[in-house]
Amino acid sequence: MSEPVLRRGDGALPAVYEGTLDCVHCGLCLSSCPTYLATGRESASPRGRVYLMRGAAEGRVGLDGLLAEEASLCLGCRACETACPAGVRYGAMLEDTRAALVAAGERQGLAQRLERFVLRHVVAHRARLRAAIALLGGVQRLGLDRVVGALLPHRLRERQQLLPRIPAAAERAPLPERVAAQGEPRGRVAFFTGCVMSEVFAPVQQATVRLLARNGFEVWIPRDQGCCGALHAHAGDLDHARTLTRRNLAAFSREEIDAVVVDSAGCGAAMKDAGHWLPGEGEPLATRVRDVCELLAEVGLRAPVGAFPARVCYDDPCHLVHAQGVASAPRELLAKVPGLELVPHDDPDRCCGAAGTYNLTQPEMAEQVLAAKLDSLLAADPQVVATGNPGCMMQIAMGLARRGSPARVMHPVEILDAAQGAAPAAGPVS
Ligand code: SF4
Ligand code: SF4
Repeated sequence: MSEPVLRRGDGALPAVYEGTLDCVHCGLCLSSCPTYLATGRESASPRGRVYLMRGAAEGRVGLDGLLAEEASLCLGCRACETACPAGVRYGAMLEDTRAALVAAGERQGLAQRLERFVLRHVVAHRARLRAAIALLGGVQRLGLDRVVGALLPHRLRERQQLLPRIPAAAERAPLPERVAAQGEPRGRVAFFTGCVMSEVFAPVQQATVRLLARNGFEVWIPRDQGCCGALHAHAGDLDHARTLTRRNLAAFSREEIDAVVVDSAGCGAAMKDAGHWLPGEGEPLATRVRDVCELLAEVGLRAPVGAFPARVCYDDPCHLVHAQGVASAPRELLAKVPGLELVPHDDPDRCCGAAGTYNLTQPEMAEQVLAAKLDSLLAADPQVVATGNPGCMMQIAMGLARRGSPARVMHPVEILDAAQGAAPAAGPVS
């Protein structure tokens, strides 16, 4: 019998082979998979992809062609994990497979190489990212983005529409290192600010910190933390994701805390996976990470909640519902807001097509997946769509604007912060 292809190379690869053996080929994941529903192709389903990974692990399938294609087309939404009765850890296998493909010289198109360059050399460096965002904000304020957009080919113009308005420099000022609890302290938490979230969604992060403090938590915001590495891992750059995780492990280990609070679903999922990325080393970080809604629903809101009269659709970020198993917490919190009507819509836990940088690297499939999401949201006629991940906020806001909907996109913490009344809600993402 030939040596399994995926067993060669670095030490993480045998885990892919073992993981594929968990799949019993029942097919219960198929109806949850957006790429299978869009194409009807078995190889574009979770079962088909696991079969291809196993074939590569056993030396029957090469690390190119169909496997490379279908691994790239996968959204990494992990809806298949929620559906799977056999506990197949699909997300971890996908990351290992993509890393193997990159190491084998696959996924080397211009878009993928540019993606890896920007992730390594801009996104992972706070000062460079801050400078790039400031430049982008300046271009927007001068109206030059519209000029540039008019000159771009149709496909790139559509991608440009993803960008929200960049907050002014004063709104993006770094958060203080420490914020005292209001009233009797209930605990001490660290807050994870991340990379893009702290710049493009700075008002959301300010709302998160206010909310934590107002509800009794002392908040520590370590200066030496940084990007979580989620986008790097999704792009097949697991080595750099591990480097970034080690930086955060050190940053969050310096003081005694009850939890590391995260308000971006993708970052929270990545940090909870630190034990997979760094076996035996990442657990102290992974076990302390809590989504902000997960924590607040568990301890309860302590400050009074005022009215927020609006019809609100809550849409589950994949990396909160499927990767972290957090579905009821944001709904429970929003249901406590007087005047807020939670309006159901079809398939709230189906991917919106954002999926990290997927909407840039796989624009056609991202558009198909987004179209189904918009149909379902618009049928419910919400005034606000609430969702807790920056990529989803941008993708859904872009889609709603394109369809002429006046609905606003807000993070659940923005609604809760506004309802608790100490500050006005940050503006919608549009
Ligand atoms: S992660 Fe999402 S797109 Fe990929 S196989 Fe699973 S359900 Fe399908
Ligand atoms: S549900 Fe799980 S066990 Fe069944 S085919 Fe899908 S991945 Fe395999």
